[in-house]
Amino acid sequence: MVREYPLQERIKLDKMEEECGVFGVYSSTKKYNVANLTYLGLHALQHRGQESAGICVNNDGQFNLHKGMGLVTNVFDEDKLKSLDGKIGIGHVRYSTTGSSLLANAQPILTNSIKGDLAIAHNGNLINGAEMRLNLERQGSIFHSTLDTEVLAHLVARSFKDNIIEAFTHSLQQIKGAFSIVAMTKDSLIAARDPHGFRPLSLGKLGDSYIVASESCALDIIGATLIREIEPGEMLIINEEGIKSSYYSERKPYNFCIFEFIYFARPDSVIGGQNVHLARQELGRQLAREMDVEADMVVPVPSSGISAALGFAQESGLPYQKGILRNRYVGRTFIQPTQEIRDLKVRIKLNPIRDIIKGKKIVLIDDSIVRGTTSKRIIRMVREAGAKEVHLAISSPPVIDSCYYGLDTSRRKELIATQKSVEEIADYIGADSLTYLSKEGLLDSIQANGYGFCTACFDGNYPIGKGTDKLAIENR
Ligand code: SF4
Repeated sequence: MVREYPLQERIKLDKMEEECGVFGVYSSTKKYNVANLTYLGLHALQHRGQESAGICVNNDGQFNLHKGMGLVTNVFDEDKLKSLDGKIGIGHVRYSTTGSSLLANAQPILTNSIKGDLAIAHNGNLINGAEMRLNLERQGSIFHSTLDTEVLAHLVARSFKDNIIEAFTHSLQQIKGAFSIVAMTKDSLIAARDPHGFRPLSLGKLGDSYIVASESCALDIIGATLIREIEPGEMLIINEEGIKSSYYSERKPYNFCIFEFIYFARPDSVIGGQNVHLARQELGRQLAREMDVEADMVVPVPSSGISAALGFAQESGLPYQKGILRNRYVGRTFIQPTQEIRDLKVRIKLNPIRDIIKGKKIVLIDDSIVRGTTSKRIIRMVREAGAKEVHLAISSPPVIDSCYYGLDTSRRKELIATQKSVEEIADYIGADSLTYLSKEGLLDSIQANGYGFCTACFDGNYPIGKGTDKLAIENR
C-alpha cells in the first residue's frame, strides 16, 4: 500500500531545487562498512534532496533496503545501519516536486526479475519517460511509483538480453534525457551517465573500495580520492574483476547543467577540475565588471550569494559585510503552511544585522531570481533594517524557461523574468536597481575542462528538446 505522508512544510526560499543525489560503494574485501560510507556520502549530498533517503546493501546476493521520508539523519539510526551489511551498496536522496511526498517514490528502487535482483538510484529526468511508461503499461507492466527510475527497471526486466548487465546496457540505450545512475546487481556496482552529461557523477577510491557519487564533496567526507568524472555515455561495471569502462552510446558534446555551478552543487565540490566556490567567486567578479553602481558595501544573501559576493567585493574594492544572518538550524517545520506563515518564511530563515546595514547603500548579491517573491521579502526586510539604497545584483542571467532535465523550476508562467522587464522586476521587488550577469559573462567565467553547458533556462535552447514529459512538467 502506498502511504501518503502529511504535509511537512520545509522552510524553502524561492529557489530552483535539485531533485536527487546518488552514491555507490564497492568494497571487495568488506574492509569498510558500506552502509556507514553510504550514509556519510548521502549526508554530504543532502543539499540535493531533503524529502526522502534510502540505502540498499547487497550481502553476497542478499539485498537489504531501507528508505524513508525525511533527512538522512531522520531515516537512519545506528540499528538500521547495522542491519545493512554487505560489500556493495547504493544510496539516494530525493527532493519531491509535489507538496506531499510518497514513500513509494523514495529510492533506491529494488526489483527482481528472472535476470536477478537489481537496485537502482537515479538523478535526472527522462524526457521520454512518460512515453516509455505508456508503452510498457500497454505491454502489461504494472508500476508502483511515478518515478522515471522504474521505467528503467521495467526495461531491464523485459529486455530480450538474458544477462542483466547486457539488459541494463540495452535499456540505457532506449531512455532519453538527463540521468546519472548508480545501480547494483548481485555481484556488481554499475554507474552510468547520460550521453550529454547533464548531471554530475564522479568516481573515487578509498583503499580497496571504489566510490561513485553525484559530487566530489561526498568523496571528501569519507576520505576518498577523486579519480575522475564518469564521462557522458559511459558505463562503469565494478566487481571482483576490477573496474571496466565502456560506452553504451556515442559520446555527445557535454551539455552540463550550468546551474550546478551557479547554485546547486556544494561550493567545496570540484566539477571538470573547477572548484565550485571559486567558479562562483569568478561570477561575482564578472558581475562587478558588468555593473556600474556607487555603494558602501557588498552584502550576500546567505548562503547562496556568499561566493559571488566575495568575488564582487574583490573586483569592485567595496567592503564585504555579513549584513544578513542565516538561521542554520531551520530545516523543517510541522506548522501548516498558511498565508501568515508563508509571509514569515524569510524572517524565520534570514535576519538582517541592523547595525551593519543602517544608513548604508548596499549591493545585495544573490545567485538567481525565480519568481521574485523571496527577493521582494528580503529587500523589504533590509530596508526595514535601515538600508538607504538596495541594489540587487544576480550572478546569473534572467531565468526565462523551465528545466526538463532534472531540476524543479517553477512553471514558465510563474518565472518573473518571462512576465516583466528588468526594470519592472526591480520595481516589483522594491530594489533601487537590478543587474543580472550576462550569459556571455557567465560562460566566460566558468573554466571546467572540456565542458560545454546547457543554458536552456536562460535562453530556451534545449539541447535535446523538451520531450514527451513536457506537459507533465508544465502542468504540475
Ligand atoms: Fe540546468 Fe537550466 Fe539546463 Fe535545467 S535547463 S539542465 S536548470 S541549465
